[in-house]
Amino acid sequence: MNIALHLRFAWLLLGLLLPLSIYADSRVVDVSSTAQSPLSLTSHVGVVEDATQALTLEAIDAPEMAEHFDYEQSPSASFALGFTRSAYWFRLVLGNSADQPLKRLLEVDNPRISLVDAYVADGQGGYRRWLTGADRPMSGKAYDNRNFVFPIELPARSQRVVYLRVQSNIALLVPLRLWSVEGFHAHERADYMARSSYMGIAVAMILFNLMLFIALGDRIYLLYVVFASCVVCSLAIKVGMAPDWLLFGVSLQSNVAYYVSASWALSALVLFMRRMLQTDRLLPAADRLLQGMFLFYLISPCLYLVALPQVARFAIFFFLFAPIAIFAVGLACALKRQRSAYFFLAAFGLLMLGGASTTLRAMGLLPTNAFTEDGLLLGSSLEMLLLAFALADRINVMRKQQLQTKTQLLQAQEQLVENLQHSERELEQRVTQRTEELQVLNQRLETLSMTDALTGIANRRMFDEALQRQWLHAQRCSAPLTLAVMDVDWFKPYNDLYGHPAGDACLRQIAQALQAAVSRSTDTVARYGGEEFVLLAPMTDLAGGYLMAEKLAEVVAALNLRHEGSPLDRVTLSIGVASTVVTPGMQPQALIQQADSALYRAKLAGRNCIECDPAM
Ligand code: GH3
Ligand code: MG
Ligand code: MG
Repeated sequence: MNIALHLRFAWLLLGLLLPLSIYADSRVVDVSSTAQSPLSLTSHVGVVEDATQALTLEAIDAPEMAEHFDYEQSPSASFALGFTRSAYWFRLVLGNSADQPLKRLLEVDNPRISLVDAYVADGQGGYRRWLTGADRPMSGKAYDNRNFVFPIELPARSQRVVYLRVQSNIALLVPLRLWSVEGFHAHERADYMARSSYMGIAVAMILFNLMLFIALGDRIYLLYVVFASCVVCSLAIKVGMAPDWLLFGVSLQSNVAYYVSASWALSALVLFMRRMLQTDRLLPAADRLLQGMFLFYLISPCLYLVALPQVARFAIFFFLFAPIAIFAVGLACALKRQRSAYFFLAAFGLLMLGGASTTLRAMGLLPTNAFTEDGLLLGSSLEMLLLAFALADRINVMRKQQLQTKTQLLQAQEQLVENLQHSERELEQRVTQRTEELQVLNQRLETLSMTDALTGIANRRMFDEALQRQWLHAQRCSAPLTLAVMDVDWFKPYNDLYGHPAGDACLRQIAQALQAAVSRSTDTVARYGGEEFVLLAPMTDLAGGYLMAEKLAEVVAALNLRHEGSPLDRVTLSIGVASTVVTPGMQPQALIQQADSALYRAKLAGRNCIECDPAM
C-alpha cells in the first residue's frame, strides 16, 4: 500500500516535474502559450554553418553537436547570411504544453533559397523530411504555397525538434515564422490577392500595349511589352509564383531564370528609354552608354547560366549600376526639359522606391507592413501604369507637334501663294505698263512713218493708204471721190535763188497752210513728193473739189511768199483736180493719172491756176 502510494506520488511528481523540466529550457517555443501569429523564430533558433555542405541529419542530430549551435542571433525578422557557399542548419524545438494536439505552420518567407530541407521529428525517434527549394521541382513542397511552408503536428504535452537545412547560390536571407493554421490561411488569401492584383494589372498593360503596337506600329510599344513581360517574369519568379516548367533545361522558378529575366528586363528598359527619351539626339554620349548597357544586359545571362554561385556576388553590382545609370540619364533628360523624362523619372523612381522598401524590410531596417512587404510589386505596377500614361502623353505631344507643323506648313503655303499672287499682280502691272508704253511708241512710230519729216503733214505712204481706204469706201457707197494734185510753180528757180534751206522753209509754210485750210476730218492733205502736194476728199464731187482747190490756192497765195524768180513774183500753186464715182473694176491709179494730166494742163495754161478732169 505504501509502495503503491509512493509510486502514485512519484508518478504525480514526475507528471508535474517532467513538463517543467521540458519547458525549463528557454529555447523550447511553447506554441500553446504563444498566441502571437505569426511568431518570428529568429531568436529561438540555433544555427550551425556547414562549410563543407557535407553534414547529414544524423551528424547534426548527434548529442555532441548540441553545443555547436549558436543561439546568439540578432532579433531581426530574418537571418541575413549573405553570399555564401556554406549550408546552414537551423535547430528549433517546439513544445505543446496543452492537453490537446496543436498544428502549426513553419514558413520560410523567401522563395529564392536554392535548397530548403526540413526535418521534423515524428515523436518515434525518426524524422519526417521534405527536400525542397527554388532550384528543385515544386512537387517536393510540403505545402503548396509560393514560400516554403512546413506543417508541424504537436500532440498534447509533447515537443518536437525541427531541423532546417538551407543553401543558396545567391544571397542567403532566411526569414522564419511560425503560424497558426487559421492565421496563415487569412494571410495567404491577402498575400495571393496582392500578387494576383499585380499580375492582373501587368497582364492588362502588356496586352493593351501589344494591341497599341499592332494598331500603331510604333516599336516603342513592343519594347514596353518586352520590358513589362520580363519584369513580370522576374517578379513572378522572385515572389515564388513562377510555374513549375523547364525551359531549355532550366527550371522557370530557379534563381538562374530569375537573374536571366531580371537582366533582360533591364536590357529592354534601356532600349525603351532610348526611344522614349530620344537620347540619341538629346544626349549622344549617354546614348552610347545605354547601347553598351543594352548589349551587356542582353548577353550577361550567359554568365548566370554557366556559374551563378560565382557570379551572383558581382551581379549585385550590375543590378545596382543599371538603376543609377538609368536614373542619371533620365535626370539629365529631365534637366533638358524633355517632357517624357518627367514621366519616366517618376515611374522609375516609384519602382526604385518599391524595390528599396522591400529590400530594407528584408534587412530589418523597415517595419513589415502592406507597403514594405509588397513594395516592389506596388512600385512595379505603378511604374507600368505611369509608363503607359507617358506613352499616351507622347501620342498627344506628337499629335500637337504634327498639328503645329501642319499649321506652319499651311501658313508657309499661304504666304507662298500670297507672294505668288503679289508678284503676278506686279508682273501684270508691268506688262500693262510696258504694253501701254509700246502702244504709245508704236503709235509714235506709226505717226512718224506716216508723217513727212520736212513738213510735218501726212506723207506719201499715208496718202496711199488713205486713197486705198477711201477708194473701197467710195466703191461701197457709190460716192464720189475727188483728188487734187498741187505743184509749186517755178520752185527750182526758188531754190536756186534763195537756197535749199529757204526752199525747205517755204515748203513747210505751204504744207501748214494747206493743212490748216482743210476742216473735214475725212479729208487728207499730204506731201506727195518734192514740191507736190495732194488733197484727197471723199464724198466730194468735182465741183466741190474745185472749190476746195480754189481755197487751197488762196491760202498759199495769202502766205504772200516772195519769189523773184517767178513771173508772178510770189509763190503760187498749179492744181489739177480729178473726181470720179468709183465703180467696180476701176483702179485708184486712174484717178491719180487723171489729176496729173489736169495738173499738166494747168502748167501749160500758165500756172497759178486750176484745171479739172473731166473739164468743167
Ligand atoms: P514748174 O513750174 O514747171 O513746176 O517748174 P519747177 O521749177 O517747179 O519745175 P520742177 O517741178 O521740175 O522742179 C522742182 C524743183 O523742186 C526741183 C527741186 O529743186 C525742188 N525741190 C523738190 N523737192 C524739194 C525739197 O524737198 N526742198 C527744196 N528746197 N526743193 C525741192
Ligand atoms: Mg514738180
Ligand atoms: Mg514745180
